[in-house]
Amino acid sequence: MHKGQGLVNDVFKPKHIKKLTGNTGIGHVRYTTQGANDSDLAQPFTTSYPFGLAMVHNGNVINFRDVARLLHEKYHVLPKTTNDLELIMYTFASELRVKDLDRLSVVDIFDAVETTQELVKGAYATVTIIAGHGLLAFTDPLGIRPLVMGRRDTPDGPVYAFASESTCFDYLDFEFVEDVGPGQAVFIDNDFKVHYKNINALPKAFCVFEQIYFAREDSTIHGRLVARERVRLGKILARKVADAGLKPDMVIDVPSSGYFSASGLAEAIDVPYRRALVKNNHMGRSFIVPTQAGREDVVKKKLNPIRAFVEGKKIAVVDDSIVRGTTSRRIVRLLREAGATEVYFISSAPPIVSPCIYGIDMAMSTELIAANYSEEEICRYIEADKVIYQDLNDLQDLFAEERGHGGSCFACFTGKYPTGEVTHYLRHIQEERQSHRPAKAAASLSAKAPAPTEH
Ligand code: SF4
Repeated sequence: MHKGQGLVNDVFKPKHIKKLTGNTGIGHVRYTTQGANDSDLAQPFTTSYPFGLAMVHNGNVINFRDVARLLHEKYHVLPKTTNDLELIMYTFASELRVKDLDRLSVVDIFDAVETTQELVKGAYATVTIIAGHGLLAFTDPLGIRPLVMGRRDTPDGPVYAFASESTCFDYLDFEFVEDVGPGQAVFIDNDFKVHYKNINALPKAFCVFEQIYFAREDSTIHGRLVARERVRLGKILARKVADAGLKPDMVIDVPSSGYFSASGLAEAIDVPYRRALVKNNHMGRSFIVPTQAGREDVVKKKLNPIRAFVEGKKIAVVDDSIVRGTTSRRIVRLLREAGATEVYFISSAPPIVSPCIYGIDMAMSTELIAANYSEEEICRYIEADKVIYQDLNDLQDLFAEERGHGGSCFACFTGKYPTGEVTHYLRHIQEERQSHRPAKAAASLSAKAPAPTEH
């Protein structure tokens, strides 16, 4: 096992790879959702009893206190960290422990998954090596976070892979096989035989924000190509742009997640699209930088407007969303400094009014600008001439149950969480984050929205 903080290329050098022998492996990149942000908490997590287990996950457990108590009372296990994966792993390991260890069967493994899914609430897409037995993948009963399975045929027979997104299969010459569905478990035994079980499936609640922002454009999630969905998101924004009476000279994107929606909008309103903000690709995503100061610094160094395109023009700038408003304001200022006469800020997501508790660490309600301010106030704060948000009904129509794709989670836009009542959990993470993040963006807007600029 090898772990570290930083980009994969910084952490993994050839000398580390050489040491990782065997025919099964798992890898993981993450930013912190639950628990502190240090390399000890980098995944995979391992345990050696009752079998060697190495587990990774994508998501967030929301009843970790209950699970930690249960682990202690029922199985006499004390988790070592505050990480939610540890709870999933020890619950699963403890359930395996009660089986006949000499004759562990696929049924036993699926039984342990079933109990784990019953006890652990939240979002999790997991992959686990069970040493000496095989590779297991399973999701939470709602299937909130994506998990896909791929296959490659080799002269020695098929090999398999699981991943959060299908993109990596293209690089590795794997064929996409299928999504691992809500509550489903897939186990590949040592003879490469594939076993499936639909265990605790509930009505699906796929994260719609993966389609809007988080997933890579070339991924296919639940049968939908992300790039195509983003074009559609842009096209349906055309109605709101027309309703607002806006006639931009040019549509531009905030690179790079705004690109497909911007091009879709430009096409729909018959206005030229240009890439007028150039991104420095050596900077990370501002969204996942853990501090406000760090995020602003990334935006400042990351984006450079092309004055020749922008000067003297009315610009419609499309971003995937407006979270705290600080990044949006910086972008509007950049465009004005480059000579834009008017700036319309267009969000391909509806207003984000509730925090995500399922593994996308966007912000708490106090930080979410749309949870605290009206559209007019937001417009003044980000210093735009007009702010346009995606219509929630349009978004829900787009991702409505059709073509067998199932339901989606819209909780960050509606406050209705598919796992049910979460007030206690929200209070807890608010307290936890206050202790970790003293600087709050929206809180620092003051109780009153800032005065509008001349624009
Ligand atoms: S709350 Fe939003 S970001 Fe979180 S899973 Fe639901 S749709 Fe995705």
